[in-house]
Amino acid sequence: MQRTITQASCADDYDPNSMPVAKARAFIREFLAPVTGHVRLPIRTALGRVLAEDVMTPVNVPAHTNSAMDGWALAFSDLNTDGESSLTEVGSSFAGVPFKGTLKRGECVRIFTGGVVPAGADTVVMQERAKAAGKQITFAPGVKLGQNVRHAGEDLKQGAVALARGRIIRPAELGLLASLDVGDVNCYRKLRVAFFSTGDELVSIGKPLAEGQIYDSNRYTIFGMLEKLGCDVLDMGVVRDDPALLESAFRDAAANADVVITSGGVSVGEADFVKQLMDKLGEVVFWKIAMKPGRPLAYGKIAGAHFFGLPGNPVSVMVTFYQFVREALLTLQGVNPVPAQPMLKALCTSPIKKAPGRTEFQRGILSQGDDGTWTVRVTGEQGSGILKSMSDANCFIVLGDHVGNVEANTVVEVQVLEGVV
Ligand code: AMP
Ligand code: MG
Repeated sequence: MQRTITQASCADDYDPNSMPVAKARAFIREFLAPVTGHVRLPIRTALGRVLAEDVMTPVNVPAHTNSAMDGWALAFSDLNTDGESSLTEVGSSFAGVPFKGTLKRGECVRIFTGGVVPAGADTVVMQERAKAAGKQITFAPGVKLGQNVRHAGEDLKQGAVALARGRIIRPAELGLLASLDVGDVNCYRKLRVAFFSTGDELVSIGKPLAEGQIYDSNRYTIFGMLEKLGCDVLDMGVVRDDPALLESAFRDAAANADVVITSGGVSVGEADFVKQLMDKLGEVVFWKIAMKPGRPLAYGKIAGAHFFGLPGNPVSVMVTFYQFVREALLTLQGVNPVPAQPMLKALCTSPIKKAPGRTEFQRGILSQGDDGTWTVRVTGEQGSGILKSMSDANCFIVLGDHVGNVEANTVVEVQVLEGVV
């Protein structure tokens, strides 16, 4: 039996006011299952989508045992074990135009890369290791049994799983599917994600700002991150900090999407009425994550939809999205296994002030020096409202719970954003 969010949050030993990053991730993971609903797509349209069923191998790939080289096909047992051997060429095998007969003793066949290895032959000698005098071919010693032969089914065996359910279709998968004569595949339907920003101070772009107002940037970063993940997005605009308006926005979003994402309104002081609203609409937990930036985070289910309440600060939105939401959305899309965000170690050239007891995600610039070593430096001001620090960054410098101040030229862990963002 799957636990409800309330059961999990009551039973588990954690402090919602200091929730470790890994624990929050594990908690959320417990409530995720891929969407139901498949679509059959031509393979090119399926690029970036997720396979909803295993693709079996209908034929051996390669279909025939063939040559990896230009040279001569022969029976290894026909060769002298000491010194040169001489055989008679009795025909040729080109890629697509095979030799029709069976080799007899003392015979060989001229063969080209991709040509079918004829019956009676088991070895190919490359042309650089042979001398031809008319049809009489002399082979240098040192040939190994089976060399330069690609066996039928060595890439894929007939009946085996070529691509498993949950695999993201990338260019390599398109080629593999084509090599199997598979022209269309069953994919999970796209995940529908509704999102809106909350805050009385927010103005949508294109309108002038009054005093104290700011432009709503979160809806743009969230849009970008969702599009990159291949979601079907539903932008619901800005919603004022008004219980009635918020309630109808949440109901509307949950009715029309698999996932609802909001920014703002979950920090101390703002969360109270959102909490009351959530008690009415579903099951939502409010955490203070032991991380910086991105401390407040809400997760739960409202009317069957998954809900992520992200903090309002623009950098916190992106950090919490990459640390919690990205993995969750991939799982809901059917991706299995979910690839971890690439981490590597690099020499940090900037000193960093850091208090133990929380995980910090400093925005960093990773680069490779002429000697091949990877170094990283912070982007500059690291305030959670400074979106320029995200724009300049190509990685997060991840300083774990136990790490304290970092001195310059210390090795740190880095989460690469290239290819992810
Ligand atoms: P909140 O979590 O709602 O208290 O917001 C925290 C900070 O983030 C405040 O300074 C807000 O003005 C700012 N903020 C909230 N939502 C947005 C948004 N959509 N775009 C830009 N800044 C925002
Ligand atoms: Mg707010």
